[in-house]
Amino acid sequence: MKNKKQNIKLRIPKQLHEKMLLDLNRTHPFAYERVGFLFTKTVKLSDGVTLIIAIDYIPVDDKDYIDDKEVGAKINSDAIRTAMQGTLEKDCGCFHVHLHDHSGKPLPSFTDSKSLPGIVNSFNNIATKHTNGFLILSRNAFYSSLKMESISVVGYPFILQYPGKGGIKDLMFDRQSFLGVNSQFLFENIKVGIVGYGGGGSHIGQQLAHIGVKNITIFDDDKIEITNLNRLIGGVFSDVKNAIFKIYIAKRVITRIFPKVNLTLIAKKWQLDPNELQKCDILFGGVDSYTERQQLESECRRFLMPLIDVGMDVYDTDGYSMSGQVILSMPGLPCMSCYGFLTEEKLAKEAAKYGNAGGRPQVVWPNGVLASTAVGVFVDLVTGWTRSNEGVYLSYDGNSGKIIDHVRKQFATEKCNHFRIENAGKPNYTKI
Ligand SMILES: [Zn+2]
Ligand SMILES: [Zn+2]
Repeated sequence: MKNKKQNIKLRIPKQLHEKMLLDLNRTHPFAYERVGFLFTKTVKLSDGVTLIIAIDYIPVDDKDYIDDKEVGAKINSDAIRTAMQGTLEKDCGCFHVHLHDHSGKPLPSFTDSKSLPGIVNSFNNIATKHTNGFLILSRNAFYSSLKMESISVVGYPFILQYPGKGGIKDLMFDRQSFLGVNSQFLFENIKVGIVGYGGGGSHIGQQLAHIGVKNITIFDDDKIEITNLNRLIGGVFSDVKNAIFKIYIAKRVITRIFPKVNLTLIAKKWQLDPNELQKCDILFGGVDSYTERQQLESECRRFLMPLIDVGMDVYDTDGYSMSGQVILSMPGLPCMSCYGFLTEEKLAKEAAKYGNAGGRPQVVWPNGVLASTAVGVFVDLVTGWTRSNEGVYLSYDGNSGKIIDHVRKQFATEKCNHFRIENAGKPNYTKI
């Protein structure tokens, strides 16, 4: 297995990352450094991609440190036994973690390289199905004993580390350098998924190409029809005549803007190729129904992917009213049910009229407003340029043209109880 080419992606929820930093920063009566254990689920995807998802963290007890002035932190066998017990109970793997308290990329010390592989080996002997290793944290970066394609802290702002990849400079993006020196590198490496290439998704795809997002996966199983021409960006009349898949319109538009792009086009529902979805670091959802949103959100929570959902509706209530929303569903933070956007009532109503819902009214300009807003949320998430963004539930009033925080946003519970971090990486969920 060691010699096979494999791409490992490690995802750590921000809550756990903060918990680790807080714990490892505490002083100990005699040890210079602290140690902890990060529990992880391993998920094998297609094409040799392995996802490692962090689900829990335990600190080493004060009494389990051995007084040894030669090394920063020496722990006894009780500490290791407790961690092993944890891996057995949770059926997961384990990473030994400690902190080098500086910014930038940490490197293992001589004692780290000498002593830590032995501890990892003892985990390899008991948690054989899972991936074990050691991680060294700095304040904002990681060293991993396993060669990783990416290490990410999922939250705002996203921490994205691509070990072994160097930066590039492209004049095409000269006018967006205010986003930070690293922004172009991040856009080159992050993998972004778009579910649904319709009125919303087609605006999003086009804009991602302009920004320089290089790895884009698009899911849409529809062919363009005459009724789509009023809003499908890049769709032209001859496409309708030729009945081409919408993903080919995506390909034409995106590669013309940004030829370097690395597109993965899936002419299926994402449920039929979930591995391609799970490889994405972040998702845009432009789906039509509440049920589809609920399914997509569950999947995104399970694999620690932020989901930016856009949608609009036109209601006939004593004159037409147009409304829409942009919701960021961030693992660990309020979900669409917490926000009161997805409710049992709405889902039941939708299920009841399933089949005779008919074509819903859609137009190009509100889709443009909502998609642009969603892309702005994405850029901020990746670059952190506004330095303030915890939870997004924006409400669009298409009649007045206003976008404001949704009134229900303030009432959402701080923590989501529908999807728990401990349950990430596996399919069973507690639905409240
Ligand atoms: Zn160290
Ligand atoms: Zn929730």
